[in-house]
Amino acid sequence: MKVEMKRVVLVTGASRGIGHAIAKRFCEAGDNVVINYNKTEKPAVELAQKFPNSSLAIRADVSKFDQVETMVDLAQRNFGPINIVVNNAGVALWQLFTEADETEFDRLFSVNVKGVFNVCKATVPQMIKCKTGKIVNISSVWGLVGASCEVLYSASKAAVIGFSKALAKELGPSNITVNCVAPGIIDTDMNGKITKETVEKLKQNTPLARLGKTDEIADAVFFLASDSANYITGQVLGVDGGFVIT
Ligand code: NAP
Repeated sequence: MKVEMKRVVLVTGASRGIGHAIAKRFCEAGDNVVINYNKTEKPAVELAQKFPNSSLAIRADVSKFDQVETMVDLAQRNFGPINIVVNNAGVALWQLFTEADETEFDRLFSVNVKGVFNVCKATVPQMIKCKTGKIVNISSVWGLVGASCEVLYSASKAAVIGFSKALAKELGPSNITVNCVAPGIIDTDMNGKITKETVEKLKQNTPLARLGKTDEIADAVFFLASDSANYITGQVLGVDGGFVIT
């Protein structure tokens, strides 16, 4: 009889919004889940309390390699090798390019790009040893088409796509897939400052004429992390109501 091993999943930025929905999806599926958070402890810990034997809330700033390494060590001591990584943690910035400075550049790239690098760096060696793994990186439609007043954010999300495509080629022979999900406009705190008028315009430019839900991103991530996606790598899956159709 074949004994099914539980999958070990790390979701970064899982205290709120899209990451929280993704972590919840894996928890409900019975996986062992590491619920990473940075500043917002309560909802991450509360989710972990609902799945006491199969989840762990761990604080780590993904932009700091030492913190990521400590989180991964703790996770692997509890659950064994991590087989699924969801790099979701991210920060946004709405600002004219002429007003953005070096500090903002460093902040966005250290979380959105270096964070993905740090988590992959800490988890990929073990995946290579196990000859199996699935990495899903959360990019954005703006990483595909660019957004006015979001130059740094768009550039950081485009970098995530380039990183993922290259890593997919390098890790394919080790049976590790690397894919991106590019969400459209999703109803989370990240969009809390967008005016009602802008939201209406964005809806008008979306064929499905509405914002997306966090669960809809979670479903796409869950699929890319599943055996149903074993032959998919290096791809960018748009989950955007048709906002970007090429
Ligand atoms: P959100 O509601 O603002 O949540 C962001 C999450 O990232 C929080 O859990 C936050 O944790 C975490 N985070 C931020 N900096 C971190 C750090 N240094 N280390 C660890 N965790 C960190 O954002 P969201 O809308 O859910 O976005 C999630 C991802 O989807 C991001 O990568 C974003 O770029 C992408 N995305 C979002 C949209 C959208 O419309 N919402 C569209 C396209 C792509 P703490 O609160 O604990 O610090």
